[in-house]
Amino acid sequence: MAKKPPTSQCPRCGKTVSWDDRFPERPFCSERCKLIDLGGWLTETHRIPGSDEDGDGVAERDD
Ligand SMILES: [Zn+2]
Repeated sequence: MAKKPPTSQCPRCGKTVSWDDRFPERPFCSERCKLIDLGGWLTETHRIPGSDEDGDGVAERDD
């Protein structure tokens, strides 16, 4: 029985990525997707999880 590596989806494009030597940039399918994703972080396309859940109530009104 052949052992199959686990797979996941590229966070950028959804392509199936095998967790083996064919995809050194995993979980991304390619260096390009990895760089796009990192670039997204740098340009704040992504938000840091929890950063808007501090609950300091600035936008909340209490009437
Ligand atoms: Zn990709």
